[in-house]
Amino acid sequence: MSRTQPQEEETDVPMQTIMPGERNRVLLAEVKKRSGTDFNRCFQCRACGNGCPFVQAMDYPPNAVLRLLQYGLDREVLECKTIWVCAGCHTCSSQCPMAIDLAGVMDILRLIAVERGAAIAKPNILDFHEEVLSSLKRYGRAHKLGIMWHYKLKTRNWFSDMDTGLKMLVKRKLELLPSRVKAIEEITDLFKCYRRESG
Ligand code: SF4
Ligand code: SF4
Repeated sequence: MSRTQPQEEETDVPMQTIMPGERNRVLLAEVKKRSGTDFNRCFQCRACGNGCPFVQAMDYPPNAVLRLLQYGLDREVLECKTIWVCAGCHTCSSQCPMAIDLAGVMDILRLIAVERGAAIAKPNILDFHEEVLSSLKRYGRAHKLGIMWHYKLKTRNWFSDMDTGLKMLVKRKLELLPSRVKAIEEITDLFKCYRRESG
């Protein structure tokens, strides 16, 4: 199985072949159980990889992540960029002819990667992910300006994406002040429930 290379790296990084090692099905079983998805039905048609809008930035296309899981290549799965580049847009899940919820699998893989202390291939994306969760927990919705502010504070990366942020402000896509949903207790309960189940 070969990695897809981001376009700008094509000339520098040789294609890498991964040989299936001794099969270890522990991660496979855990992902199946926690995502409620039986991906044994996957027949590698690649519709998910072809439709994914972020595949060029990934080191493995989404269908290959399932294959790595089936091969028992846990480290390659938990340390790959793909699971962090995935934006959870659900395009893959809606296009899969076998109704496999690949977006749900990616979610669970991110959680397990954090829980197991795996080397995070895109640490900045993890920081961003945590800020989004924290905003959801606080307000029941994502307050984009607050997320961006806390993310910048954490990463000290002040000027990247500045032009995008300004354009969003001008177009009034960023609310200055956060607003909280009415049923915030239900959101809080969801977080408590997750902590109970994962703890
Ligand atoms: S679209 Fe579904 S069946 Fe096809 S490769 Fe992706 S997960 Fe497998
Ligand atoms: S959910 Fe993730 S893997 Fe699936 S299409 Fe969207 S970005 Fe790609």
